[in-house]
Amino acid sequence: MRPIIITLDGYSSCGKSTLAKAMARELNYVFIDSGAMYRAITLYFLRHHIDPKDNSAVRQALTEINLDFDYNAEQGTSDMLLNDENVEALIRDMLVSEHVSEVAANEYVRAFGVAQQQKMGLKKGIVMDGRDIGTTVFPAAELKIFVTADPVVRVERRFKELLAKNPRITIEEVKDNLEMRDYIDSNREFSPLRQAADAKVLDNSQLTREEQLALALSWAQETIAQKA
Ligand code: C5P
Repeated sequence: MRPIIITLDGYSSCGKSTLAKAMARELNYVFIDSGAMYRAITLYFLRHHIDPKDNSAVRQALTEINLDFDYNAEQGTSDMLLNDENVEALIRDMLVSEHVSEVAANEYVRAFGVAQQQKMGLKKGIVMDGRDIGTTVFPAAELKIFVTADPVVRVERRFKELLAKNPRITIEEVKDNLEMRDYIDSNREFSPLRQAADAKVLDNSQLTREEQLALALSWAQETIAQKA
């Protein structure tokens, strides 16, 4: 069977990464979290006081950034490495979430991210999640999934997840952050968040993890059988 490219796009906190990771494990594909790459760039910008509106500083900073993933097939993890430092935990911090959409909207940051993601897909056999994967990064991907969920469900899920790490976080903070990121991601000039015309929509508001995985895998197996 020839490997294919599977893309999962959608708004923040729809459960895209969880689903993408589980699909990759079942299919023996490589999971790539494109959001982690923008988060790692944001962490670098915060540490080095790079203003995302200052294009010359941004271009210089990008020459100093090396992104990689540390895959652990046994544990099913894929940790983000920023210049060889494991930053997986740090990039999930609220401070990074507050700045990432502004950084990801920069023209040069986008070109940097998209080029690296395209390289990662050269051999196919990947499941990549993000915002513009089916539209800009891999417009010819064999299977595109657009994941959606009720905004109330998304806020609650994200709040529970973050509360485990930070007991002082409030639900309002989480809601404001999701709304802000979705707004910037959908309205930016360069590769905004859009549903690809040929994407299959998966609304997981009322589905368990097992149910969504079964549905997405049935689409994947059908597509792999057709394209093989
Ligand atoms: O997926 P995650 O929520 O971790 O992504 C963090 C942020 O990175 C998003 O809110 C968005 O601003 C940016 N992003 C993007 N394009 C992608 C993936 C993520 O602009 N393909």
